[in-house]
Amino acid sequence: MIPTEHLSKAVDELAPRDRPIMLHASLRSFGAPIAGGVDALLDAFLAGNRTVLVPTFTEPQFGVTPPAGLRPLRNGVDYAEFPEVPTVSEGTPYTTGCGLINPGLGVLPAAVISRTGAVRGTHPLNSFAALGPLAGQLISAQSPSDVYGPIRELAAHEGLIILIGVGLNRMTALHLAEQQAGRRLFLRWARNPDHRVSMVEVGSCSEGFPRLGAVLRPHVRTAVVGESRWQAFPARQTLAAAAAAIRADQDITRCADGDCRLCRDSIAGGPKMA
Ligand SMILES: [Zn+2]
Repeated sequence: MIPTEHLSKAVDELAPRDRPIMLHASLRSFGAPIAGGVDALLDAFLAGNRTVLVPTFTEPQFGVTPPAGLRPLRNGVDYAEFPEVPTVSEGTPYTTGCGLINPGLGVLPAAVISRTGAVRGTHPLNSFAALGPLAGQLISAQSPSDVYGPIRELAAHEGLIILIGVGLNRMTALHLAEQQAGRRLFLRWARNPDHRVSMVEVGSCSEGFPRLGAVLRPHVRTAVVGESRWQAFPARQTLAAAAAAIRADQDITRCADGDCRLCRDSIAGGPKMA
């Protein structure tokens, strides 16, 4: 059993008080159950007046088939996989109170949105949620056409990104570095509150992000809790270093799958607007 004091000690070592912290966590990485579970982990970060920011994506729940007139080229998709014209009018629109999350993101994001006071963004496919004093400020920076606004705010507030037992392939913020390096973000389709379908910004492939490890190493601080290795990155410096590395060598984020359409189209610059 991992005692809560071990969590608090690691948090205090890595994360200054009053700062916003973006978290990506694998509870399995601890190698033993945490006393108090995911809520104890969340509380350890919220102590010290910190704000916690997490991705609460809903692509599987709210993504829809692209309408014929909304199919930009070089967009990381093979349109042949879709019917020429959508045959069914899929689903209800996303709302910030829907309570749904892509289950692949793990249990921490679900714990955040279940808390009183949590604020969730309006992006129908890639929302973020936050809890703590800066939650409203971070999340209000997001819109369907500005997916990574909350990460810009995180950096502006000298926030940190902390990886708990997961690798750089889970660091969502690096998609913002891709955008800052000149790539256009991919566009996907979702229903507006008025049920019309529109295109919204989403991230690309992140499987090649571990190749940025050497560039980011000077900025990282680490701690170990149980068997879980924690890595803390200052958001502003991390984004600047990653964007500079991508600008210098666009190929640096390419993943190991030679057929990856996402990497191919993203590295070529992203979607081409008609
Ligand atoms: Zn890829």
